[in-house]
Amino acid sequence: MARKILLGLLMLNASCCFSQKKSPDKIVVLTFDDASQSHYSYVAPLLKKYGFGATFYVCEYPPDFSDTVKYMSWYDIKQLSDMGFEIGNHTWHHVRIDHLSNDSLKSELRYIERKCDTLKIPKPTSMAYPDYVTDATKIPVLSLLGYTTARVGGNHAYNPVYDGAFYIPSFTMNAHNEQEIIDAFAFAKNGHIVVLTVHGVPDLAHDALSTTPAVFENCMKYLYDNHYIVVSMRALTGYIK
Ligand SMILES: [Zn+2]
Repeated sequence: MARKILLGLLMLNASCCFSQKKSPDKIVVLTFDDASQSHYSYVAPLLKKYGFGATFYVCEYPPDFSDTVKYMSWYDIKQLSDMGFEIGNHTWHHVRIDHLSNDSLKSELRYIERKCDTLKIPKPTSMAYPDYVTDATKIPVLSLLGYTTARVGGNHAYNPVYDGAFYIPSFTMNAHNEQEIIDAFAFAKNGHIVVLTVHGVPDLAHDALSTTPAVFENCMKYLYDNHYIVVSMRALTGYIK
């Protein structure tokens, strides 16, 4: 009998420890894709005002990355990094990784890493899959190059217990889904984390992906007013056991 009681106490203790290891409620990760010029000129100052962290997944989106009306320059990207934001890897040419050989994927990722190195931007350790397309056979390549997280789409909350670190799901914001996004924030509890993907605000290169400043600001104000912890992908690892 004494052994049964002891075993019961041990199991109770183990379940307490497990629940204590859950991440806190109200954690939201902000991610921004495709190096839109608005990330530098509009988004970053607004995030600073609220004290929010964020990850910017950059690439040299063909064919007109050099158009600095549409896209950030590498100088702008460096400024984001110096402001404390994380720079993540979205591949050099924004190519689906299932269309690449292992060697081509390495050169796509390493191009962005070299740019970062030249500008003294910390080496990216997170990547976002172009077009949200994953390829399980490429995970060893990501690991080998030092990546610890990778983000997909999917429009559901991230559960670190069940979703792998290379398949972190996100909700995609656009000009028309403000209420859906605000409703999604409610999922950030019980060990779940809400990750947002945002493109340009507005996105002058890709109309369909654009978000309006009004929608974006309403969502950021909601997070601030409701005391959410808003962080980059890099900072998220500090909340997950
Ligand atoms: Zn993209």
